[in-house]
Amino acid sequence: MEYDAVIGLEVHAQIHTHTKMFCACHVMKDTGDIPPNTYVCPVCLALPGALPVVNRRAVEIGMLTGMALHCTINTTNVFARKSYFYPDLPKGYQISQYDLPLASDGYLDIEVDGETRRIRIRRAHLEEDTAKLYHLDDGRVQVDFNRAGAPLLEIVTEPDLHTAEEVRAYATLLRTILVYLGVNTGDMEKGMMRFEANVSVRPRGSTLFGTRVEIKNLNSFRSLTRGVEYEIQRQSALLDSGGVVEQETMGWNESAGYTYPQRSKEHAHDYRYFPEPDIPPLQLDPAWIAAVRAELPELPTERRSRLTTQYGIRAYDAELLAADRALADYFEVAVKMGQELALAPQDVANWMTGELFRLLNEANRPITGCRVTPEHLIALLFLVQKGTISASAAKKVLSEVFVTGEAPNTVVKRLGLAQMSDTDALHALVAQVLDQNPIQLAQYLEGKESVWGWFVGQVMRASQGKANPTQTREILQKSLEQRRSSQS
Ligand SMILES: [Zn+2]
Repeated sequence: MEYDAVIGLEVHAQIHTHTKMFCACHVMKDTGDIPPNTYVCPVCLALPGALPVVNRRAVEIGMLTGMALHCTINTTNVFARKSYFYPDLPKGYQISQYDLPLASDGYLDIEVDGETRRIRIRRAHLEEDTAKLYHLDDGRVQVDFNRAGAPLLEIVTEPDLHTAEEVRAYATLLRTILVYLGVNTGDMEKGMMRFEANVSVRPRGSTLFGTRVEIKNLNSFRSLTRGVEYEIQRQSALLDSGGVVEQETMGWNESAGYTYPQRSKEHAHDYRYFPEPDIPPLQLDPAWIAAVRAELPELPTERRSRLTTQYGIRAYDAELLAADRALADYFEVAVKMGQELALAPQDVANWMTGELFRLLNEANRPITGCRVTPEHLIALLFLVQKGTISASAAKKVLSEVFVTGEAPNTVVKRLGLAQMSDTDALHALVAQVLDQNPIQLAQYLEGKESVWGWFVGQVMRASQGKANPTQTREILQKSLEQRRSSQS
Protein backbone atom coordinates (compact mmCIF):
# COMPACT_ATOMS: atom_id res chain seq x y z
CA MET A 1 0.00 0.00 0.00
CA GLU A 2 1.07 3.60 -0.52
CA TYR A 3 1.46 5.76 2.59
CA ASP A 4 1.69 9.47 3.28
CA ALA A 5 3.74 10.74 6.18
CA VAL A 6 2.57 13.43 8.58
CA ILE A 7 5.42 15.15 10.39
CA GLY A 8 5.62 17.84 13.04
CA LEU A 9 8.93 19.30 14.13
CA GLU A 10 10.09 20.69 17.47
CA VAL A 11 13.27 22.73 17.41
CA HIS A 12 15.21 23.68 20.51
CA ALA A 13 17.41 26.64 19.69
CA GLN A 14 19.92 28.16 22.08
CA ILE A 15 19.75 31.93 22.07
CA HIS A 16 22.50 34.50 22.53
CA THR A 17 22.15 36.21 25.84
CA HIS A 18 24.93 37.16 28.23
CA THR A 19 23.25 35.49 31.16
CA LYS A 20 21.05 32.47 31.79
CA MET A 21 17.25 32.42 31.55
CA PHE A 22 16.51 32.94 35.25
CA CYS A 23 19.83 33.87 36.93
CA ALA A 24 22.87 36.09 36.39
CA CYS A 25 25.26 33.25 35.53
CA HIS A 26 27.13 33.60 32.24
CA VAL A 27 25.93 31.57 29.32
CA MET A 28 28.77 29.53 27.88
CA LYS A 29 29.50 30.63 24.35
CA ASP A 30 31.72 27.64 23.84
CA THR A 31 32.31 24.41 25.70
CA GLY A 32 36.06 25.04 25.10
CA ASP A 33 38.27 25.45 28.14
CA ILE A 34 35.67 26.20 30.77
CA PRO A 35 35.89 23.75 33.68
CA PRO A 36 32.62 22.00 34.47
CA ASN A 37 30.32 23.45 37.12
CA THR A 38 31.88 26.92 37.20
CA TYR A 39 29.03 28.97 35.67
CA VAL A 40 26.59 28.05 38.41
CA CYS A 41 24.70 29.69 41.27
CA PRO A 42 21.99 28.77 43.77
CA VAL A 43 19.25 29.46 41.18
CA CYS A 44 20.51 27.19 38.40
CA LEU A 45 21.67 24.57 40.91
CA ALA A 46 18.16 24.66 42.43
CA LEU A 47 19.31 25.26 45.99
CA PRO A 48 16.41 25.67 48.41
CA GLY A 49 14.95 29.16 48.58
CA ALA A 50 16.59 30.43 45.36
CA LEU A 51 14.16 32.37 43.18
CA PRO A 52 14.18 32.79 39.38
CA VAL A 53 14.17 36.19 37.65
CA VAL A 54 13.23 36.37 33.96
CA ASN A 55 15.99 37.47 31.55
CA ARG A 56 14.66 40.54 29.72
CA ARG A 57 16.87 40.08 26.66
CA ALA A 58 15.72 36.47 26.29
CA VAL A 59 12.12 37.71 26.15
CA GLU A 60 13.12 40.26 23.48
CA ILE A 61 14.86 37.59 21.44
CA GLY A 62 11.80 35.35 21.80
CA MET A 63 9.59 38.16 20.53
CA LEU A 64 11.97 38.99 17.67
CA THR A 65 12.06 35.36 16.54
CA GLY A 66 8.28 35.07 16.89
CA MET A 67 7.89 38.12 14.66
CA ALA A 68 10.28 36.69 12.05
CA LEU A 69 8.11 33.55 12.04
CA HIS A 70 4.96 35.64 11.50
CA CYS A 71 3.60 34.72 14.94
CA THR A 72 1.23 36.63 17.17
CA ILE A 73 3.12 37.94 20.19
CA ASN A 74 0.95 37.21 23.21
CA THR A 75 0.94 40.25 25.47
CA THR A 76 0.16 37.99 28.41
CA ASN A 77 2.19 34.82 28.64
CA VAL A 78 2.93 32.49 31.47
CA PHE A 79 5.86 30.36 32.62
CA ALA A 80 4.95 26.88 33.76
CA ARG A 81 6.58 24.01 35.58
CA LYS A 82 7.11 20.85 33.54
CA SER A 83 7.76 18.17 36.09
CA TYR A 84 9.98 15.18 35.49
CA PHE A 85 12.90 13.56 37.23
CA TYR A 86 16.20 13.21 35.49
CA PRO A 87 19.78 13.73 36.71
CA ASP A 88 20.27 16.70 34.37
CA LEU A 89 17.38 18.58 35.96
CA PRO A 90 18.22 19.64 39.53
CA LYS A 91 14.83 21.14 40.41
CA GLY A 92 12.87 18.07 39.35
CA TYR A 93 11.04 20.33 36.94
CA GLN A 94 11.92 22.56 34.02
CA ILE A 95 10.58 26.09 33.80
CA SER A 96 8.96 26.28 30.37
CA GLN A 97 5.79 27.72 28.89
CA TYR A 98 2.66 25.72 28.30
CA ASP A 99 -0.84 26.98 27.56
CA LEU A 100 0.12 30.65 27.20
CA PRO A 101 3.35 30.78 25.17
CA LEU A 102 5.21 33.94 24.19
CA ALA A 103 4.37 33.58 20.48
CA SER A 104 1.85 31.51 18.56
CA ASP A 105 0.11 30.92 15.21
CA GLY A 106 2.84 31.81 12.74
CA TYR A 107 4.17 30.24 9.56
CA LEU A 108 7.20 29.82 7.35
CA ASP A 109 7.06 29.42 3.57
CA ILE A 110 9.52 26.82 2.38
CA GLU A 111 10.50 25.88 -1.14
CA VAL A 112 10.80 22.27 -2.22
CA ASP A 113 11.21 21.23 -5.86
CA GLY A 114 10.40 24.75 -7.01
CA GLU A 115 7.10 24.83 -5.12
CA THR A 116 6.30 27.02 -2.14
CA ARG A 117 4.66 25.31 0.82
CA ARG A 118 3.40 27.06 3.94
CA ILE A 119 4.32 25.37 7.20
CA ARG A 120 2.26 26.64 10.11
CA ILE A 121 4.04 27.31 13.36
CA ARG A 122 1.99 26.44 16.40
CA ARG A 123 4.08 28.19 19.00
CA ALA A 124 7.46 29.56 20.04
CA HIS A 125 8.17 29.63 23.74
CA LEU A 126 11.00 30.22 26.17
CA GLU A 127 12.41 27.64 28.54
CA GLU A 128 15.61 26.69 30.31
CA ASP A 129 18.16 24.16 29.14
CA THR A 130 19.13 21.11 31.17
CA ALA A 131 22.58 20.27 32.51
CA LYS A 132 24.86 18.11 30.41
CA LEU A 133 25.47 14.46 31.23
CA TYR A 134 28.70 12.67 30.40
CA HIS A 135 28.42 8.89 30.23
CA LEU A 136 31.82 7.40 31.06
CA ASP A 137 33.09 4.09 29.75
CA ASP A 138 33.11 2.55 33.23
CA GLY A 139 29.38 3.15 33.58
CA ARG A 140 29.59 6.25 35.74
CA VAL A 141 27.79 9.41 34.70
CA GLN A 142 29.11 12.92 35.33
CA VAL A 143 26.99 16.03 35.28
CA ASP A 144 28.03 19.56 34.27
CA PHE A 145 25.63 22.35 35.26
CA ASN A 146 27.27 25.08 33.15
CA ARG A 147 24.49 24.68 30.59
CA ALA A 148 21.71 24.29 33.17
CA GLY A 149 19.33 27.22 32.98
CA ALA A 150 20.68 28.58 29.67
CA PRO A 151 17.82 30.08 27.66
CA LEU A 152 16.21 27.99 24.94
CA LEU A 153 13.59 28.83 22.41
CA GLU A 154 11.34 25.94 21.48
CA ILE A 155 9.67 26.32 18.11
CA VAL A 156 6.91 23.85 17.26
CA THR A 157 5.24 23.36 13.88
CA GLU A 158 1.79 22.02 13.13
CA PRO A 159 1.94 18.56 11.49
CA ASP A 160 2.26 20.19 8.07
CA LEU A 161 5.41 18.48 6.84
CA HIS A 162 5.17 15.37 4.67
CA THR A 163 8.61 14.37 3.47
CA ALA A 164 12.18 14.32 4.74
CA GLU A 165 13.03 16.94 2.06
CA GLU A 166 10.40 19.31 3.45
CA VAL A 167 11.69 18.74 6.97
CA ARG A 168 15.19 19.56 5.82
CA ALA A 169 14.06 22.68 3.92
CA TYR A 170 12.13 23.93 6.94
CA ALA A 171 14.99 23.28 9.40
CA THR A 172 17.51 24.91 7.07
CA LEU A 173 15.40 28.03 6.58
CA LEU A 174 14.74 28.27 10.32
CA ARG A 175 18.48 28.05 11.01
CA THR A 176 19.18 30.77 8.43
CA ILE A 177 16.59 33.03 10.05
CA LEU A 178 17.99 32.53 13.55
CA VAL A 179 21.47 33.37 12.31
CA TYR A 180 20.12 36.42 10.42
CA LEU A 181 18.49 37.62 13.62
CA GLY A 182 21.83 37.20 15.37
CA VAL A 183 20.17 35.09 18.08
CA ASN A 184 21.95 31.79 17.32
CA THR A 185 25.24 30.91 15.58
CA GLY A 186 23.61 27.99 13.78
CA ASP A 187 26.58 25.85 14.79
CA MET A 188 25.04 22.38 14.83
CA GLU A 189 28.21 20.72 16.10
CA LYS A 190 27.98 22.74 19.28
CA GLY A 191 24.35 21.77 19.76
CA MET A 192 23.04 25.25 18.99
CA MET A 193 19.94 23.63 17.43
CA ARG A 194 18.41 20.29 18.38
CA PHE A 195 15.47 18.61 16.70
CA GLU A 196 12.65 16.29 17.68
CA ALA A 197 10.35 14.97 14.99
CA ASN A 198 6.86 13.51 15.42
CA VAL A 199 6.27 11.10 12.59
CA SER A 200 3.19 9.11 11.63
CA VAL A 201 2.04 7.51 8.39
CA ARG A 202 -1.42 6.88 6.96
CA PRO A 203 -2.76 5.20 3.82
CA ARG A 204 -2.57 7.61 0.88
CA GLY A 205 -5.72 9.73 0.68
CA SER A 206 -6.77 9.11 4.29
CA THR A 207 -7.51 12.14 6.46
CA LEU A 208 -7.15 10.28 9.77
CA PHE A 209 -3.90 10.60 11.66
CA GLY A 210 -1.81 7.49 12.26
CA THR A 211 -0.12 6.74 15.59
CA ARG A 212 2.79 9.10 16.02
CA VAL A 213 6.30 8.28 17.11
CA GLU A 214 8.60 10.90 18.55
CA ILE A 215 12.25 10.75 17.45
CA LYS A 216 14.83 12.35 19.71
CA ASN A 217 18.63 12.90 19.47
CA LEU A 218 18.43 14.49 16.05
CA ASN A 219 21.29 16.95 16.30
CA SER A 220 22.26 17.59 12.69
CA PHE A 221 20.45 18.13 9.41
CA ARG A 222 21.79 14.78 8.29
CA SER A 223 20.45 12.95 11.36
CA LEU A 224 17.16 14.77 11.01
CA THR A 225 16.51 13.80 7.40
CA ARG A 226 17.85 10.27 7.78
CA GLY A 227 15.92 9.67 11.01
CA VAL A 228 12.65 10.91 9.51
CA GLU A 229 13.21 8.93 6.31
CA TYR A 230 13.99 5.78 8.28
CA GLU A 231 10.94 6.15 10.52
CA ILE A 232 8.58 6.68 7.55
CA GLN A 233 9.87 3.48 5.97
CA ARG A 234 9.80 1.53 9.23
CA GLN A 235 6.18 2.47 9.96
CA SER A 236 5.04 1.82 6.37
CA ALA A 237 6.68 -1.62 6.36
CA LEU A 238 5.19 -2.39 9.77
CA LEU A 239 1.67 -1.51 8.61
CA ASP A 240 2.17 -3.47 5.37
CA SER A 241 3.04 -6.58 7.36
CA GLY A 242 -0.13 -6.22 9.42
CA GLY A 243 1.62 -4.74 12.45
CA VAL A 244 0.56 -1.84 14.66
CA VAL A 245 2.64 1.31 15.29
CA GLU A 246 3.14 1.89 19.02
CA GLN A 247 3.06 5.43 20.34
CA GLU A 248 6.53 5.79 21.77
CA THR A 249 9.69 7.83 21.95
CA MET A 250 12.54 6.63 19.79
CA GLY A 251 16.20 7.50 19.82
CA TRP A 252 18.24 7.84 16.64
CA ASN A 253 21.48 5.94 16.29
CA GLU A 254 23.40 8.02 13.77
CA SER A 255 26.29 5.64 13.13
CA ALA A 256 24.09 2.56 12.67
CA GLY A 257 21.29 4.53 10.95
CA TYR A 258 18.19 3.29 12.76
CA THR A 259 15.66 4.41 15.37
CA TYR A 260 15.28 2.41 18.58
CA PRO A 261 12.66 2.56 21.35
CA GLN A 262 13.87 4.85 24.14
CA ARG A 263 11.03 4.98 26.58
CA SER A 264 7.26 4.89 26.32
CA LYS A 265 7.11 8.27 27.99
CA GLU A 266 3.69 9.29 26.68
CA HIS A 267 2.04 6.45 28.60
CA ALA A 268 4.10 6.56 31.77
CA HIS A 269 4.64 10.24 32.07
CA ASP A 270 2.59 13.08 33.29
CA TYR A 271 4.42 16.39 33.24
CA ARG A 272 1.85 17.89 35.62
CA TYR A 273 2.18 21.33 34.07
CA PHE A 274 1.09 24.20 36.29
CA PRO A 275 1.88 27.93 36.30
CA GLU A 276 5.28 28.69 37.87
CA PRO A 277 4.36 30.25 41.23
CA ASP A 278 7.70 32.08 41.53
CA ILE A 279 7.26 34.08 38.30
CA PRO A 280 4.22 36.28 37.76
CA PRO A 281 2.62 36.21 34.29
CA LEU A 282 4.60 38.30 31.82
CA GLN A 283 2.68 41.38 30.68
CA LEU A 284 4.34 42.80 27.56
CA ASP A 285 3.95 46.53 27.08
CA PRO A 286 2.83 47.25 23.46
CA ALA A 287 5.49 49.98 23.27
CA TRP A 288 8.15 47.39 24.11
CA ILE A 289 6.78 45.01 21.46
CA ALA A 290 6.89 47.86 18.91
CA ALA A 291 10.49 48.69 19.87
CA VAL A 292 11.48 45.05 19.34
CA ARG A 293 9.66 44.96 15.99
CA ALA A 294 11.79 47.91 14.90
CA GLU A 295 14.87 45.68 15.47
CA LEU A 296 13.62 43.11 12.94
CA PRO A 297 16.11 42.97 10.04
CA GLU A 298 15.40 42.06 6.45
CA LEU A 299 14.99 38.27 6.38
CA PRO A 300 16.59 35.78 3.95
CA THR A 301 13.59 35.24 1.67
CA GLU A 302 13.03 38.98 1.21
CA ARG A 303 16.72 39.63 0.82
CA ARG A 304 17.05 36.98 -1.86
CA SER A 305 14.36 38.57 -4.01
CA ARG A 306 15.79 42.06 -3.43
CA LEU A 307 19.27 40.93 -4.53
CA THR A 308 17.82 39.69 -7.84
CA THR A 309 15.65 42.75 -8.51
CA GLN A 310 18.07 45.43 -7.30
CA TYR A 311 21.29 44.05 -8.84
CA GLY A 312 19.95 41.84 -11.62
CA ILE A 313 21.98 38.83 -10.50
CA ARG A 314 20.88 35.26 -11.20
CA ALA A 315 18.31 33.81 -8.78
CA TYR A 316 20.61 30.91 -8.00
CA ASP A 317 23.45 33.23 -6.93
CA ALA A 318 21.04 35.38 -4.93
CA GLU A 319 19.91 32.29 -3.05
CA LEU A 320 23.48 31.25 -2.22
CA LEU A 321 24.41 34.75 -1.07
CA ALA A 322 21.22 35.42 0.92
CA ALA A 323 21.58 32.12 2.78
CA ASP A 324 24.11 33.83 5.04
CA ARG A 325 23.64 37.38 6.26
CA ALA A 326 27.38 38.06 6.40
CA LEU A 327 27.80 36.86 2.81
CA ALA A 328 24.93 39.01 1.57
CA ASP A 329 26.39 42.02 3.45
CA TYR A 330 29.82 41.34 1.92
CA PHE A 331 28.27 41.14 -1.56
CA GLU A 332 26.39 44.41 -1.18
CA VAL A 333 29.42 46.28 0.17
CA ALA A 334 31.53 44.96 -2.73
CA VAL A 335 28.92 45.83 -5.35
CA LYS A 336 28.66 49.41 -4.04
CA MET A 337 32.45 49.80 -4.26
CA GLY A 338 32.44 48.28 -7.74
CA GLN A 339 29.78 50.67 -9.03
CA GLU A 340 32.24 53.56 -9.38
CA LEU A 341 34.55 51.32 -11.41
CA ALA A 342 31.65 50.09 -13.57
CA LEU A 343 32.04 46.50 -12.37
CA ALA A 344 28.96 44.37 -12.98
CA PRO A 345 27.21 42.97 -9.87
CA GLN A 346 26.95 39.60 -11.63
CA ASP A 347 30.77 39.49 -11.93
CA VAL A 348 31.05 40.13 -8.19
CA ALA A 349 28.51 37.35 -7.57
CA ASN A 350 30.37 34.97 -9.90
CA TRP A 351 33.68 35.49 -8.15
CA MET A 352 32.09 35.11 -4.74
CA THR A 353 30.06 31.97 -5.43
CA GLY A 354 32.88 30.52 -7.53
CA GLU A 355 36.47 31.05 -6.43
CA LEU A 356 35.86 32.66 -3.04
CA PHE A 357 33.38 29.94 -1.96
CA ARG A 358 35.86 27.30 -3.09
CA LEU A 359 38.62 28.83 -0.94
CA LEU A 360 36.31 29.23 2.06
CA ASN A 361 35.08 25.63 1.73
CA GLU A 362 38.59 24.24 1.42
CA ALA A 363 39.70 26.14 4.51
CA ASN A 364 36.37 25.37 6.23
CA ARG A 365 36.04 29.03 7.20
CA PRO A 366 33.12 31.45 7.26
CA ILE A 367 33.17 34.74 5.35
CA THR A 368 33.45 36.61 8.64
CA GLY A 369 37.12 37.37 9.22
CA CYS A 370 38.04 36.33 5.67
CA ARG A 371 41.33 38.00 4.68
CA VAL A 372 39.94 38.81 1.25
CA THR A 373 37.99 41.97 2.04
CA PRO A 374 35.35 43.42 -0.31
CA GLU A 375 37.98 46.10 -1.19
CA HIS A 376 40.41 43.35 -2.21
CA LEU A 377 37.84 41.56 -4.33
CA ILE A 378 36.87 44.74 -6.15
CA ALA A 379 40.52 45.74 -6.69
CA LEU A 380 41.11 42.29 -8.17
CA LEU A 381 38.11 42.44 -10.51
CA PHE A 382 39.22 45.88 -11.64
CA LEU A 383 42.67 44.51 -12.56
CA VAL A 384 40.94 41.87 -14.70
CA GLN A 385 38.63 44.43 -16.27
CA LYS A 386 41.56 46.73 -17.18
CA GLY A 387 43.38 43.77 -18.71
CA THR A 388 46.27 44.09 -16.25
CA ILE A 389 45.92 40.42 -15.35
CA SER A 390 44.14 37.49 -16.96
CA ALA A 391 41.21 35.72 -15.31
CA SER A 392 43.38 32.70 -14.58
CA ALA A 393 46.07 34.90 -13.00
CA ALA A 394 43.31 36.53 -10.94
CA LYS A 395 42.45 33.13 -9.44
CA LYS A 396 46.08 32.76 -8.39
CA VAL A 397 46.07 36.24 -6.88
CA LEU A 398 42.83 35.56 -5.01
CA SER A 399 44.19 32.42 -3.37
CA GLU A 400 47.33 34.37 -2.34
CA VAL A 401 45.28 37.21 -0.87
CA PHE A 402 43.12 34.62 0.90
CA VAL A 403 46.22 33.41 2.77
CA THR A 404 48.24 36.60 3.21
CA GLY A 405 45.63 39.37 3.21
CA GLU A 406 47.89 41.48 0.93
CA ALA A 407 46.47 43.94 -1.58
CA PRO A 408 45.92 42.26 -4.99
CA ASN A 409 48.23 44.81 -6.68
CA THR A 410 51.07 43.83 -4.36
CA VAL A 411 50.56 40.13 -5.15
CA VAL A 412 50.46 40.83 -8.91
CA LYS A 413 53.82 42.63 -8.64
CA ARG A 414 55.37 40.08 -6.30
CA LEU A 415 54.43 37.13 -8.53
CA GLY A 416 55.01 39.03 -11.79
CA LEU A 417 51.53 38.22 -13.03
CA ALA A 418 50.82 41.45 -14.94
CA GLN A 419 49.80 40.76 -18.52
CA MET A 420 51.99 41.82 -21.39
CA SER A 421 50.03 44.64 -22.97
CA ASP A 422 53.07 46.34 -24.47
CA THR A 423 52.37 46.09 -28.23
CA ASP A 424 56.03 46.23 -29.29
CA ALA A 425 56.94 43.38 -27.00
CA LEU A 426 53.93 41.38 -28.21
CA HIS A 427 54.84 42.02 -31.86
CA ALA A 428 58.33 40.71 -31.18
CA LEU A 429 56.94 37.64 -29.44
CA VAL A 430 54.53 36.87 -32.28
CA ALA A 431 57.28 37.31 -34.88
CA GLN A 432 59.51 34.99 -32.89
CA VAL A 433 56.81 32.28 -32.74
CA LEU A 434 56.12 32.53 -36.49
CA ASP A 435 59.85 32.39 -37.35
CA GLN A 436 60.43 29.39 -35.14
CA ASN A 437 57.58 27.37 -36.68
CA PRO A 438 57.94 27.54 -40.47
CA ILE A 439 56.05 24.24 -41.07
CA GLN A 440 52.93 25.37 -39.22
CA LEU A 441 53.20 28.80 -40.85
CA ALA A 442 53.28 27.21 -44.30
CA GLN A 443 50.28 25.05 -43.40
CA TYR A 444 48.33 28.10 -42.31
CA LEU A 445 49.23 30.07 -45.43
CA GLU A 446 48.10 27.10 -47.54
CA GLY A 447 44.69 27.44 -45.94
CA LYS A 448 44.81 25.19 -42.90
CA GLU A 449 42.81 27.47 -40.60
CA SER A 450 42.99 25.15 -37.59
CA VAL A 451 46.64 26.10 -37.03
CA TRP A 452 45.37 29.53 -35.89
CA GLY A 453 44.44 28.33 -32.42
CA TRP A 454 47.75 26.53 -32.12
CA PHE A 455 49.62 29.80 -32.82
CA VAL A 456 47.61 31.64 -30.17
CA GLY A 457 48.55 28.92 -27.70
CA GLN A 458 52.24 29.15 -28.65
CA VAL A 459 52.30 32.92 -28.10
CA MET A 460 50.57 32.54 -24.74
CA ARG A 461 53.05 29.86 -23.75
CA ALA A 462 56.04 31.93 -24.91
CA SER A 463 54.76 34.77 -22.73
CA GLN A 464 54.29 32.37 -19.78
CA GLY A 465 50.58 33.11 -19.84
CA LYS A 466 51.06 36.86 -19.46
CA ALA A 467 50.16 37.94 -22.99
CA ASN A 468 46.91 39.85 -23.17
CA PRO A 469 44.73 37.40 -25.15
CA THR A 470 42.75 40.05 -27.04
CA GLN A 471 45.88 41.94 -28.14
CA THR A 472 47.63 38.68 -28.96
CA ARG A 473 44.82 37.72 -31.34
CA GLU A 474 44.86 41.13 -33.03
CA ILE A 475 48.62 41.19 -33.53
CA LEU A 476 48.76 37.57 -34.64
CA GLN A 477 46.01 38.25 -37.19
CA LYS A 478 47.89 41.25 -38.61
CA SER A 479 51.24 39.49 -38.66
CA LEU A 480 49.82 36.48 -40.51
CA GLU A 481 48.17 38.76 -43.07
CA GLN A 482 51.49 40.53 -43.61
CA ARG A 483 53.27 37.21 -44.13
CA ARG A 484 50.56 36.13 -46.59
CA SER A 485 50.89 39.32 -48.66
CA SER A 486 54.72 39.29 -48.58
CA GLN A 487 54.61 35.66 -49.81
CA SER A 488 52.44 36.44 -52.83
ZN1 LIG B 1 22.95 30.51 37.85
